Amino acid sequence: MYDDNNIFARILRGEIPCKKVYEDEHTLAFEDINPRTPVHTLVIPKGKYVSTNDFADKASDTEIAALMRAVKKVAALKGVDASGYRVIVNTGVEGGQEVPHLHFHVLGGRAVGPMTVLK
Ligand code: AMP
Repeated sequence: MYDDNNIFARILRGEIPCKKVYEDEHTLAFEDINPRTPVHTLVIPKGKYVSTNDFADKASDTEIAALMRAVKKVAALKGVDASGYRVIVNTGVEGGQEVPHLHFHVLGGRAVGPMTVLK
């Protein structure tokens, strides 16, 4: 069940401000409020999708393509497409997902090190 009052739903409705990085018909990207790296931008679908699972099951091919393309556009806008960056998608309880609206973390602006458990 999608929670219409989750924080990203409220951002999408304009009830809570965000620092917008990119927007198109299907996606919105904005700065993470608690950046872990010099570049830390969140890319979300505008549709009501709780998680990776929900998105893969229910989103249209157009929405899925738009989100993936938006990730690369955000990396370019933030100047890390050539230097490299990490994309993290926490999914569900054991995946450490806190906000129940699918979001891709785009992290970079410095070497982020080997892939490991992030505390
Ligand atoms: P996750 O643990 O993958 O669900 O990540 C949730 C992310 O949302 C965290 O990195 C938070 O810092 C971020 N976050 C929470 N509230 C806001 C907000 N109002 N604006 C921007 N980012 C937020």
